[in-house]
Amino acid sequence: MKFVDLTLPMKKGMPFYPSGLHTPFSAEKTAEIGANGREIRRIEMGSHCGTHIDGMTHFLKNGWSVDKIPLSILVGPAYLVNLGKLPQDSVITRKDVSDRLPKGRKIERLLLRADWSRFWEKKQYFNGWPHLSEDCCSFIAEKGIKLAGFDFPSPDETFTGKNLDSPNHKFFLKKKIVLIEYLTNLGKLKPGNIFLIALPLRIAGGDGSPSRVVAYNI
Ligand SMILES: [Zn+2]
Repeated sequence: MKFVDLTLPMKKGMPFYPSGLHTPFSAEKTAEIGANGREIRRIEMGSHCGTHIDGMTHFLKNGWSVDKIPLSILVGPAYLVNLGKLPQDSVITRKDVSDRLPKGRKIERLLLRADWSRFWEKKQYFNGWPHLSEDCCSFIAEKGIKLAGFDFPSPDETFTGKNLDSPNHKFFLKKKIVLIEYLTNLGKLKPGNIFLIALPLRIAGGDGSPSRVVAYNI
């Protein structure tokens, strides 16, 4: 098996969601080999930093925090759909996804590749990323999918104050559909059947957690 790392590297200066509510990543040394005989760091970051998994409690009062998401959902066979290199402001429709899924087969985990990770560390990343139509979200729920992952920041379009605030997040999380955001390297896998391992830190009550996400084709 050839593992592909679908995780963005965590480093100082990495972009973070620009809403004013998130904390940038830092990992300052608090001990050094020369001075202290060991190296230790203080890591600071927001709970939705880099490649991460959302707990239901990101938007809901009750439900799974990241430590409560069943491992049986986070690890297992998945299906990777290649939507092509989507341009700015794309809306991913029910048809876009349903046409690319094998008919009559149960799919529990779905990853959507839009090649948006090409803009990571560029201004465009947080400007008009692809998002899912309401009908596309309904389709994913109807299919019985338990986990959906994306190589863009969110299944929702940017909240401007004029549109609804994160309706797709709320829809998925209410249905206990686990979300993985900011994936990368999906182009290194063949579209179709993969085995997925996506593990958030076991943060008690965590609303989200940076996660190491890897997969291989099966
Ligand atoms: Zn998130």
